[in-house]
Amino acid sequence: MATYDYDIGIIGGGAAGLTVASGAAQLGARTLLIEKENELGGDCLHFGCVPSKTLIKSAHVYHMMKNSERFGLPAVDLPPVDFREISNRIRSVIGMIQKHDSEERFCSLGAKIQFGQPSFNDEHSVRLNGKTVSAKTWVIATGSSPIAPPIKGLDKTPYITNKEIFYLDHLPKSMIILGGGPIGSEMSQAFCRLGTKVCVVDMASQILIREDEDMSAALHEVLRSEGVEFHLNSTIEEVGDLGSEKEVKIKSKDGKVTRLRAETILVALGRGANVQELGLENTGVEFDLRGIKVNHRLKTSQKYIYAAGDVNGGYQFTHAAGYEGGIVISNAIFRLPRKVDYTFLPWCTYTDPPLGSIGMNEKRAKEAGINYQVWIEEFKDNDRSLAEGEQVGKIKMILNEKEKPIGIQILGPHAGDLLAEWVAILNGKVKLSTLAAAVHPYPTIGEINKKVAGSYFSPKIFSEKVQKGLKFFFRLKGRACGEEGCELNIEE
Ligand SMILES: Cc1cc2nc3c(=O)[nH]c(=O)nc-3n(C[C@H](O)[C@H](O)[C@H](O)COP(=O)(O)OP(=O)(O)OC[C@H]3O[C@@H](n4cnc5c(N)ncnc54)[C@H](O)[C@@H]3O)c2cc1C
Repeated sequence: MATYDYDIGIIGGGAAGLTVASGAAQLGARTLLIEKENELGGDCLHFGCVPSKTLIKSAHVYHMMKNSERFGLPAVDLPPVDFREISNRIRSVIGMIQKHDSEERFCSLGAKIQFGQPSFNDEHSVRLNGKTVSAKTWVIATGSSPIAPPIKGLDKTPYITNKEIFYLDHLPKSMIILGGGPIGSEMSQAFCRLGTKVCVVDMASQILIREDEDMSAALHEVLRSEGVEFHLNSTIEEVGDLGSEKEVKIKSKDGKVTRLRAETILVALGRGANVQELGLENTGVEFDLRGIKVNHRLKTSQKYIYAAGDVNGGYQFTHAAGYEGGIVISNAIFRLPRKVDYTFLPWCTYTDPPLGSIGMNEKRAKEAGINYQVWIEEFKDNDRSLAEGEQVGKIKMILNEKEKPIGIQILGPHAGDLLAEWVAILNGKVKLSTLAAAVHPYPTIGEINKKVAGSYFSPKIFSEKVQKGLKFFFRLKGRACGEEGCELNIEE
């Protein structure tokens, strides 16, 4: 029987790779984790979730300060933002989280960490730092990188991506954001709030194309009202460097050409899998532009090699990468066949208000040919929301033909956190009546979850039929106040 240096080798120390490494090592597998950068943590920690949410918070606080009068507070004359201070804060938050993702911690769990860029010799061994290392099973978890599409002039024009944006040495006066997806939308609002003149270009007719049109439109209106300029339905024709300014030539659907100018261009046009330089051609692992092809068990076309996280071209979220890491552990270490199931994978775009989603929205239900009903509650009817100064947004509950919840969409305060209750309800197949009857603390934004569930039962409970029944059995006397006004309407 062939012997290997390790039971499992993992390439990539981000969310997916770290999940596999920690699980495998704690289960007693001889585990190797290889990371090409000097630190673990991956994109989420260094260039993604953590820096973006930290920046968004700083922008939120600055925005609140500028709008202090809305809260009955004195107006404040604010100095401009020093972006280096925001970058310092970002670095300090990363530093705190980095401790959880340190070499020492993983070593204490039993995993060996090696830094370097490996290349496969064959399906069981890689070449790393001049040596050959073998493992029975390999997991590719190398993540993704921003795509720079072949736009005329882009290769000759300096631009930034998520790799640079959190570490700028000053706040740009103006920024053109190419792409109105989650990164483009979050950054457009954050930078606009900090004082940058921002405009967003996207070829789609709405921002956040995966989301329902009404939710996206309501968010678009918030961003527009705060000062973000949008050019939707517009293709990028050419990009040019004018020295202190960059120019983006765009063409709208009706053929109108516009030249936009700004100090900085942020390219947020999607992400491509990190598959280069892995020597995949020596393994038989198949991949395309989207990423490494995997089956439902996250096995690649080579049976000893798995791929988890962004690199497999699926859902590009940290929690998806972590979930997939768990599936790999099940299949590769426990040998318990487990398939991925993304039916109730939630996600959230952290604009203000944030837009969260789990399960079906109207778009996806239509695509799947599902007959559905929609139940809506607005945040302006939630007492806590009003106290917080939040009036925009709604929760949409999507029910299938059997009147079972199949999806929730939330645009409103704490949307991502509000989804947590639905994560349990949908995964646990909890009855809607349980949620509607469960006491929620008052006043909380979370009451909106109970309320939307209740809104489904209200017409049934307070129906004419029920009223007639109760009147008949218990001699209830009916309306005390007339519909026209408040005349007495007591029946004899
Ligand atoms: C701006 C931004 C904001 C985001 N915000 C959110 C959010 O709020 N919530 C959310 O869920 N997701 C968010 N994401 C997405 C999230 O960051 C990714 O989905 C997540 O990091 C994917 O994890 P991963 O393990 O697949 O890849 P990564 O975290 O990128 O890890 C891959 C690791 O592999 C290493 N590597 C790459 N190539 C090699 C190689 N050849 N050899 C060795 N090592 C290699 C990399 O250096 C990296 O450390 C955001 C992304 C961006 C860009």
